[in-house]
Amino acid sequence: MSVADQAPGYIRSIMPYQPGKPISELAREMGLPENSIVKLASNENPLGMSGRAREAIVATLADIARYPDGNAFALKAAISRKFGVNPAQLVIGNGSNDILELAARAFLAPGCAAVFSRHAFAVYPLATNAVGATCIEVAAKQFGHDLEAMLAAITPATRIVFIANPNNPTGTFVSGAELEAFLVRVPRDVLVVLDEAYTEYLAPGQCYDAIAWLSRFPNLLVSRTFSKAYGLAGLRVGYAIAHPDVADLMNRVRQPFNVSSVALAAAEAALADEEFLAQSAELNRRGMEQITQAFVELGLEWIPSAGNFVTFKVGDSAAVNLALLKRGVIVRPIAAYGMPEWLRVSIGLPEENLRFIDALRQVLA
Ligand code: PMP
Repeated sequence: MSVADQAPGYIRSIMPYQPGKPISELAREMGLPENSIVKLASNENPLGMSGRAREAIVATLADIARYPDGNAFALKAAISRKFGVNPAQLVIGNGSNDILELAARAFLAPGCAAVFSRHAFAVYPLATNAVGATCIEVAAKQFGHDLEAMLAAITPATRIVFIANPNNPTGTFVSGAELEAFLVRVPRDVLVVLDEAYTEYLAPGQCYDAIAWLSRFPNLLVSRTFSKAYGLAGLRVGYAIAHPDVADLMNRVRQPFNVSSVALAAAEAALADEEFLAQSAELNRRGMEQITQAFVELGLEWIPSAGNFVTFKVGDSAAVNLALLKRGVIVRPIAAYGMPEWLRVSIGLPEENLRFIDALRQVLA
């Protein structure tokens, strides 16, 4: 028996996460110059980051020899001020991915279960499997969360329900009123992880305030990230807002220095730049219009999206994806999400969207 055979079966059966293809990798594979490649595969901010974040990053470099503040005092203070919460309610993560894993590590174990929707974010099963807990996948409703069915799927062993709103990769959205009605009915000993990675992109009419619900629902955790609208995906910062007892447990299983000093400083500066956020949301709104209009012209079906990406149906997605790659356009195949006929494209700059649209038109012709 090899050493690998000795790993728990629940680890050996994990399907690895498939990230978007990096530009450098496609350049190597296809012999294309890197600057000719358009990457619309990982829901990143095409504007880059806020100028304030850049300044904070440069200022922090002088202190790289020092460990970061393991308690993230300054970033927690900034988040607390912005959202009117207590720093004791916060957990800072190495990306919000870390938050999802910390929640799983703190609340799940073999014999426990987590509920999530089909076509929901891939990290929910990963985080659940990694701690030997059981996945309860609930059938989707029009590619989105069926909250009624998710409620019915909760068993006595269920400790966490994961909800992505908007969901990735489908972009589907459930209204604040539906979520609130769901929270009222979820047993108080089940943690609801509300993953709001794309919340900054919601249209004004869609906005709801989950943070205001925390005082009524001590079993609610709101997860946010600096990777999307804030443009700091490469630095890895996210956070959870929850009941202090929930945050305390997650902070116990967190690495003492899980977020770098550069990331902490950049996130704090980015949080203050409301103008950059508004600009990013507006660019996204226009890009979404540009791309979905092209889908209309090409006669393609797509799923209306509340995020900074949109999923569209092409049939043979592997072939279309390869043809797009050959034209230097990286989008995201989502067969691993149970959607083998679909591709997901992130909204880019107008000229990047155009490159994608032109390439897609050629491929489908
Ligand atoms: N939640 C959702 C729904 C996501 O799409 C992503 C990124 N793909 C994440 C969480 C994690 O992102 P990050 O770790 O960069 O915050």
